[in-house]
Amino acid sequence: MTQARIIDGKAVAERLRTGLAEEIKKSGTKPGLAVILVGDDPASQVYVRNKIKACEQAGIESYEHKMAATSTQQEVRHVIRNLNVNPLVHGILMQLPLPGHLDSSALINEIDPDKDVDGLHPLNAGRLMAGLPGMTPCTPQGSLLLIKEIQKDLTGLHAVVIGRSLLFGKPMGQLLLAENCTVTQCHSKTRDLPGVCRQADILVAAVGRAKMVKGDWIKPGAVVIDVGINRGDDGKLTGDVDFEEAAKAAGAITPVPGGVGPMTIACLLMNTVKAAHA
Ligand code: NAP
Repeated sequence: MTQARIIDGKAVAERLRTGLAEEIKKSGTKPGLAVILVGDDPASQVYVRNKIKACEQAGIESYEHKMAATSTQQEVRHVIRNLNVNPLVHGILMQLPLPGHLDSSALINEIDPDKDVDGLHPLNAGRLMAGLPGMTPCTPQGSLLLIKEIQKDLTGLHAVVIGRSLLFGKPMGQLLLAENCTVTQCHSKTRDLPGVCRQADILVAAVGRAKMVKGDWIKPGAVVIDVGINRGDDGKLTGDVDFEEAAKAAGAITPVPGGVGPMTIACLLMNTVKAAHA
């Protein structure tokens, strides 16, 4: 029997999006988001379609730049540079992953940091680390908002983050540190991962391995945030946490789907509005 409170990311994201739509209406300025999609990866196409739909619903103008899978580094750079100086465009999102022949980091570095709504530019990563205002990556930002749905003050809590990617793990650790958590950052070389997880008041899993985190890794009452998205052979999505087991021990837990996923798009819209009003 499930005892944990289920954190409804879909409902929280919906609330945020409604608030943003009202804010945009009142402001009288229409934020603009440019989305660059290189190649025809089916998953990326779905993500981009969802982001554009969410923009429309919120009152954000979207500008889609579809580029051939064979596009060169120079061609993508040229598009980014044009968007950097386009006054109608407040946010630029380059859908990742890019085709293998392109240098993603070099292209991310081309994006104007103030239009970097994904928060991946090194300047924004540095700003986050230095505690300065900047663009924060969407999924960690959304995950923090979900944690705060359960507990407003995180001071002194032990947060364990499994994963240290630039996209998620590292910025998540920084955000929790800024909330005065004691943060343990785990990765593939961590010794006794289950033992470390058992100490967590807040456990965030972002690995990409279906149901890796077991029920007996969870400290009773912990807040568990499952970032993983793993598609099974049956097409169904599962997280990195064994939900059925973990929900028996956790105090609160995000489901997959319907947890962190919807928050990523809501935070992308938030970052675009922030960029437009800066
Ligand atoms: P990533 O770049 O592949 O990073 C995975 C991390 O997990 C790495 O730091 C890796 O450690 C660590 N790891 C791998 N195996 C491990 C193990 N056995 N024990 C402990 N740590 C292990 O992935 P990512 O981009 O951070 O994404 C992680 C997951 O989140 C994926 O499932 C992705 O689809 C999902 N995601 C979801 C959203 C969303 O909107 N919901 C957004 C972003 C990502 P090393 O550094 O040592 O290799």
